[in-house]
Amino acid sequence: MAGGTAGPRVVVVGAGVIGICAALQLQRAGMQVEILDRHPPGEGASYANAAVVTEAHVAPIAMPGVLAQVPRMLLDRESPLALRWRDLHRLAPWLARFLAAARPAAVRRIAEAMGRLLDGSMAAFEPLLAEAEEPGLLQRTGTLCIYESQAGFRRDATARELEQHVGRRFEIYSASALRQVEPALGATDRLHAGVYYPDAGYITDNYRLVQVLARSFRRHGGRILREAATGFAFEGDRVCAVATERTTRPCDHVVVAAGAWSRPLARKLGANPPLDTERGYSLTLPEPGVSPRMPVFSGERGMVCTPQETGLRLAGTVELGGLDAPPDWNRADVLLRHARRWFPELGSTPAGRWMGFRPSMPDSLPVISRTPRHSNAVLAFGHGHCGLMLGPRTGELVRDLVLGRTPVVDPAPYRVDRF
Ligand SMILES: Cc1cc2nc3c(=O)[nH]c(=O)nc-3n(C[C@H](O)[C@H](O)[C@H](O)COP(=O)(O)OP(=O)(O)OC[C@H]3O[C@@H](n4cnc5c(N)ncnc54)[C@H](O)[C@@H]3O)c2cc1C
Repeated sequence: MAGGTAGPRVVVVGAGVIGICAALQLQRAGMQVEILDRHPPGEGASYANAAVVTEAHVAPIAMPGVLAQVPRMLLDRESPLALRWRDLHRLAPWLARFLAAARPAAVRRIAEAMGRLLDGSMAAFEPLLAEAEEPGLLQRTGTLCIYESQAGFRRDATARELEQHVGRRFEIYSASALRQVEPALGATDRLHAGVYYPDAGYITDNYRLVQVLARSFRRHGGRILREAATGFAFEGDRVCAVATERTTRPCDHVVVAAGAWSRPLARKLGANPPLDTERGYSLTLPEPGVSPRMPVFSGERGMVCTPQETGLRLAGTVELGGLDAPPDWNRADVLLRHARRWFPELGSTPAGRWMGFRPSMPDSLPVISRTPRHSNAVLAFGHGHCGLMLGPRTGELVRDLVLGRTPVVDPAPYRVDRF
């Protein structure tokens, strides 16, 4: 690997999975990289997410018919997608774009763009994990999506059409055959069908992944500084330093990868992305009493159960609740009640509860883009439900944008000024 202590200086803001992967790819390309984060690496959205990696996740969150779900989002506290009355006014511009992204033509365009970014996303982990001497962190088990009703299975037909349209593989199983795919499933009489995705798997501990990559980055000369970025200094059309609460950090290039908190920094660079947050919850059961081989999604309940080194993680739900409101822990506890439907033996040992802030764009596509005004500033955030799986691929595209190389994927769909 190229040394990380010479070459042009890059400051990456944010030590989540996106910032760390971008920093590693830049370092591997011979640049001198510093990461700034106000917290230790991996303590944002990258902390206790569902840890799934799947090349099939191409359908956006806003699908045709989403408008009809809005009353339930407002009234049902256990709805997989929840919205509070008091947030409606603040969220109106984001919601208008979210609904616009649900039109059939938009959904197809989004799936194609997501598919191109996800192509090779599992393989892109391998060199990073090999360098970090932790290849076992990625498990290629496939994933299973189960349905409790025919109506639920039919509702996802459009998503499956999009997956097929971009060349994704899957196999459909009747309820009686599901145990062949995932022997840990109980109560299959409550299920209607399942869909197995072979080109998928999981990271065995997504927080440890960030730690391992951070260690690899440091070992090759990278520095991670516990400082919050507050702004930038400019020379002509170039950013020449990142201001922090303590000092200024000179740079030849800057990458903003501050997850759900990126918008104020992007604004200081002349961009105004409609970034908000889809809050999500997880429970990690250290002694779950069941051991699925692979992540098991519920098609109807917006959640997934993923085996982890630390136990079984139940994760999901979307709450459009902003960055400041306190967590609604009922949304985490409901995950256990749901999961018992298909894993009846699931224990109730004390579980680690967590809420995370997905950095979300209304069209479910990330921003991986140069800023409109500055030739040496790159934005990398807004990965919504797919930030973990897209970390290494995003890092490759950020590297190409910084270096001015032919990009690994056409960056047009991920431009910050696409709205
Ligand atoms: C419940 C749940 C389940 C999920 N499941 C999956 C999944 O199965 N697969 C998947 O691919 N994705 C999943 N995701 C999404 C994934 O977690 C996110 O997309 C991803 O973690 C985003 O990474 P990030 O690096 O952009 O943001 P973060 O991990 O949030 O990192 C941003 C970092 O920036 C720092 N920061 C912010 N402001 C500043 C500043 N001014 N100066 C310095 N530092 C700053 C923060 O402290 C933070 O460390 C899930 C998310 C949730 C909530």
